[in-house]
Amino acid sequence: MAQTQEQTVSTGDTPFVPIEKIVSLCKRRGFVYPNSEIYGGVSGIYDFGPLGVELRNNIRRFWWWSMVQTNDNVVGIEGAIITHPRVWEASGHVENFVDRLVDCKNCKRRFRYDHLPEENVRQNTCPVCGGELTEPRTFNLMMETYIGVVEGERMKTYLRGEASQNIYLDYDNVLKSSRMAIPYGICQIGKAFRNEVTPGNFLFRQREFEQWDLQFFVHPSQMQQWFDYWRERRFEWYKGIINHKDRLRFRAHGPDELAHYAKQAFDIEYQTVIGWQEWEGIHWRQDWDLSRHSQYSGQDLSYTDPETKERYIPWIVETSGGVDRTFLNLLLDAYEEEPPSGKDKEGRTVLRLNPMLAPVKVAVLPLQKNKEELVTTAKELHSKLRRLMVSQYDDVANIGRRYRRQDEIGTPFCVTIDFTTLEDQTVTIRERDSMSQIRLHMNEVPAYLLERVRWDYSV
Ligand code: ATP
Repeated sequence: MAQTQEQTVSTGDTPFVPIEKIVSLCKRRGFVYPNSEIYGGVSGIYDFGPLGVELRNNIRRFWWWSMVQTNDNVVGIEGAIITHPRVWEASGHVENFVDRLVDCKNCKRRFRYDHLPEENVRQNTCPVCGGELTEPRTFNLMMETYIGVVEGERMKTYLRGEASQNIYLDYDNVLKSSRMAIPYGICQIGKAFRNEVTPGNFLFRQREFEQWDLQFFVHPSQMQQWFDYWRERRFEWYKGIINHKDRLRFRAHGPDELAHYAKQAFDIEYQTVIGWQEWEGIHWRQDWDLSRHSQYSGQDLSYTDPETKERYIPWIVETSGGVDRTFLNLLLDAYEEEPPSGKDKEGRTVLRLNPMLAPVKVAVLPLQKNKEELVTTAKELHSKLRRLMVSQYDDVANIGRRYRRQDEIGTPFCVTIDFTTLEDQTVTIRERDSMSQIRLHMNEVPAYLLERVRWDYSV
């Protein structure tokens, strides 16, 4: 389906959430703002607000924790956005990182040629209005920049089009400076820049975005085994953080999509209102990247096995996904408008985010604002909790309104200080999804909450 269009479709009994609802929530509650909005904005570039940055940090940290911290054979790096321009010649980006685009002569909409439905390609028609399309034109997606101050002596280079190249560049340094031996992996999270010809669908396709990559280096004889291993691990990782498990699938690349060196490749796809779309790619990169950089740099990037003394260029399994698509997919997955029910007479909007990723973990609420003892006790508890997790103190509006405000931003727990608290030091803990409530002694609250919001990754 064309990326510029949205369709409200549904499968089963849960309708897909229109992206506009997420855009509106994100702006209203401080998750995401259009970049340079007071100047009219820049298409495909966004800023993240107070809640957005918390959610983003949690997503990043969780990925890092489960990929680097909990695997002895994986380490991390953080490479620069600007590299030597030869890097992008070696990688093939200067020559081949192109999109073909067509314009509709009638409605003036623009489409990526490879995203057009087959029927429209055959008939050369616009998928929106049926108008005639222009001939495809080719655009390079790399963003150019210049290093140096003297005109004429400045070196043209690029903002990186994908983050993973830094890993190949540092592969040998990591090997020599750490105690790693093959098989081992290097991870990185970092910004990438692409002059996308059709940015759209909010955070799905941007011009500045953030990628996460694992490049796992193996002996050729072990390639299949590690490819299968990481393919499954990454699928389970995504499955572990969403509610709609049936909306996740693998899509195997067909022979016409595979790079010449790739035996196989899979996309992990997630289904939303814009259809099934790539969330992360699992790629068989063989010895392509290290061989190319050896060739272009003149440096020998082969590996000598310390035991067998065999010398070879390692093969690579790549898993490459995005912070922004994860951010968007998690919101689309978690957003729900609940009609009025027995428990909630007004109905509510709730973000059913996994508690460990939720931007705010707990809200501390005095039942009434005008009772000093309630307020003091609540503020004391809040100041204890905020050292351990993101906690919000809120005493504005009635308690039902405050619960709903927290539900809408995905806060998994609300702690209410009421008159019983003043007698026996117990508080009410309300859980976001079930709206069920329990009473606990105040001293037990930190440990109770920590247990429920901690990283939980058992694969
Ligand atoms: P597509 O076919 O959708 O353009 P791609 O195959 O070019 O994507 P990769 O180069 O494999 O994507 O990038 C790896 C990951 O980076 C993607 O799975 C996606 O999560 C993320 N990503 C890629 N392009 C963008 C973008 N323009 N905006 C946001 N995230 C992106």
